[in-house]
Formats: sequence, structure tokens, C-alpha cells
Amino acid sequence: MKHFLLFYLITHLFLLIGCEYKSDKNLKNIKTLVLEYNFESDRYEINKTQITSLKNPRKLKSHIANFYYNKNEIQSLKKAQPLTLNLVKGSSDLYLPEDIASLTAVSAYKTYELLWQHHSKLGIESYSVWPKQVVLLDQKQTVEVNNAIHISGENKTFYLPFESNDLPAHLNPGLIAHEESHGLFHEIVIKGLMSDNEIEEWNALLSKEYKLSSSEELFAMNEQRLVEYNYTFLRVLNEGIADFMGYTFTNVPDFILRSFSFEQGSELRFNRIVGKSMMAPLPSVDQLQLLINNIKNVKSDTDGLHVKYLLPKSEEFQDQVVVELNTTSLLSLSYRLSGLVSTMLNIISENIPQDQVPQVLTKKEYLLQKVVTSLPKFRLILNKKLKTQRLSFNDLWSVLLDEKIINQDICSAIKNNWDENQPIEGCNSEE
Ligand SMILES: [Zn+2]
Repeated sequence: MKHFLLFYLITHLFLLIGCEYKSDKNLKNIKTLVLEYNFESDRYEINKTQITSLKNPRKLKSHIANFYYNKNEIQSLKKAQPLTLNLVKGSSDLYLPEDIASLTAVSAYKTYELLWQHHSKLGIESYSVWPKQVVLLDQKQTVEVNNAIHISGENKTFYLPFESNDLPAHLNPGLIAHEESHGLFHEIVIKGLMSDNEIEEWNALLSKEYKLSSSEELFAMNEQRLVEYNYTFLRVLNEGIADFMGYTFTNVPDFILRSFSFEQGSELRFNRIVGKSMMAPLPSVDQLQLLINNIKNVKSDTDGLHVKYLLPKSEEFQDQVVVELNTTSLLSLSYRLSGLVSTMLNIISENIPQDQVPQVLTKKEYLLQKVVTSLPKFRLILNKKLKTQRLSFNDLWSVLLDEKIINQDICSAIKNNWDENQPIEGCNSEE
């Protein structure tokens, strides 16, 4: 359906194209058409817009983002070509994209311009590296499809072609904000604390599919590894903040599901709809360790795909609740738990008193600003604990406390939605 609409709109677009190409040097702002997805009506729209950050309207290259085109290499920029748009200058100084690739590329660029403006509005633009390196991969040549991949150490984001009927990642502003949030988190929290080798090794640990392991391997992996716990915790936090950033940018709580509809059917308690995932409490330190242990102990001879988790505590769940997750790697566990983090951030934002929030910002934007500006302090805690002690969500609450975000309403909200017996950092223990 979406593809049909796209085809229909493009056909009509060609009818608009008329005038000859003229020299377009020294143009500061260009008017063009972009393809926008209307989340409410679930349809594409073609809208006229102005792009203010390009020096050359045909080259997507600026202080905000440099766009490349590549056939099938995901990791390397070596064979990537700087992206050149096919534009035809129409009447009224309107530059019309000549083909779908140009239309979608300029649309994605416009989203990057809006994201930069959003970060500037929040005063957090200096917390990540600009320009972003953005690579759009070719439909026919790419092996992997239906995804977007951010390579944090290199500040590059690859947008893979979509063969499903889902919204392609580079046309989903929420996903663009999500991917670039990973770059920010890397820059402020991770970079310099771990070597490239460690990052590579731990990423491999997270991606490992435990159900495929031999029993010997399982035996070796059963010893609890502090760094494995801490790296999983970091990934949960990283994904949760990225989801919250995507939500703050779009106001669409289920922006993830619009591009990854397969997530729709996943376990209700652990979906990734921001604000709707608090059906299970945020895990305590021991609970997260238990989840990790369970993943590593999954037996390939059962039905293979289900890990059973016990969720103790919370008033809602007086008895222990068994939840089956379609999860066999720590990475996929991180995705499941990220919805709890983004939802908790949303709950906290809703409890911020209005008079504390600057008039130009929403509560969500204000909290996002505080989360980002508190990350350097979180980095100090990480530096101390990474190889000595397990990280806890208390480490996040404590840096937010420093930003004067925590109040008694927020303390109660955290208490109700966090499965930890420790007192909440910054809250009165009698509460
Ligand atoms: Zn992510």
C-alpha cells in the first residue's frame, strides 16, 4: 500500500518537472520537494520545503551531514561515492528531484537538518560530532536489508534498503534520531574508556547467539563476567536513551514499530513503544544478572527460542511472573529492556513540575536535555565501575539528581517501576 502511494506520488511529480537546468552556484537556501511520512494518517506526503544548510544544492554535504552512496559495503567508506542529487530547476526557484533516489536522499538530509536544529534548540549540539557521515546503500546490491546500522567509533550511519512494506529507516525521523543518539552516547560516555579491541570483543559478546553454543562453550561462559554485565547494562541504557531521543524528536511513541513491524508481535511486557512498556519493572542489579545468566543457559534442545524469566516483586505482580522472551543473545535482551528505560524516562519527564521547564521546551525535551548534559558525570561513574563493580540504574538517578530533576513524585514513580531493594539515589528513604 505504501509503495503504491509512493509510485503514485512520484508519477505525479514528474508532471511537475518543466524548466531547464541553470547554474545554481552561490545559492544559500534551496526550495525543494521532500517525501515525508505522516505517522497519523500512515501515508507518504510530498511537501515543499526549504533547505538552509547546503552550499551546493546538488551535493548533500555541510556542517550537519555528508551523504554518501554505496553499493554493498557496510563497514567501509572506501568505495562510497559522495551523493549527488539529480535535480531539475523548476519554476519559482523550486528544485525538483528527478528520481526516487534523489527524492528520498534529499528528504533524509532535511531530517538531519531538523535534527541539528533540534539539538541546537536544546543546547546539546556540542555533545556529538558533526557532520554526520551518512551512507545510503543500493537496493539491488546489498546483502543485508531492512535495517540501519550506526558504527559509533567512526561516526557513520548506514541505511540499508527496505524490502518490506515498512517505513524505510532513512525516511523515519525517529530512527534517524535514534541512530545518531548512539553516536552521542559513544562520544560522551564510551570513547576513550575502552580500547577499540575491547569494544569489538564486547560487541561480539553481546551479539553471540547462545542457543547455538556447544555445551563446552556454555560451561566456559557460565562464569559471571563483570564486564559482560556492565556492557549489557550500557547497551540497555544506550538503546533506551536513543528511543527516548527518537520519541522526543517525532512525538511518535511507536516510531520503531513503523520501520520494524516484526517487533509488533514481540512480548507485550517488553515492547518498544515509549511510554507503554512499563508492564514489567526496570530490573535491579541482581535481576539483570539473572536475565543474563538465563540467556547464557538457554538449552538448544528445548524449543530453542524461548527464555523464561521470572519477574519478582512489584504490587502488580504479587507472585512471580514467568515471561517468555524470544531472546537468545544479550543484544536482543538489551533491545527488550530498552523500552523499559525509555518509558521510565517518559514517566520522569511527565512528573517534572511545569514551572521548572523553560517555556520554549516541552517536558520531554527538557528531560532529554538534562539526560544528555548529565552524561559526562555518568561517564565518571562508569570509569570507576567498569571493571570493578556492577552498574545500577542508581547511577543514572544520581546524575539526574545533580541536574535537580528528582523530586518526590519522581521518587515514587521510580520506586513503583524499578525492581531494586536499594534506596533510590537522591530520594528520601522513608518515601
Ligand atoms: Zn539502537
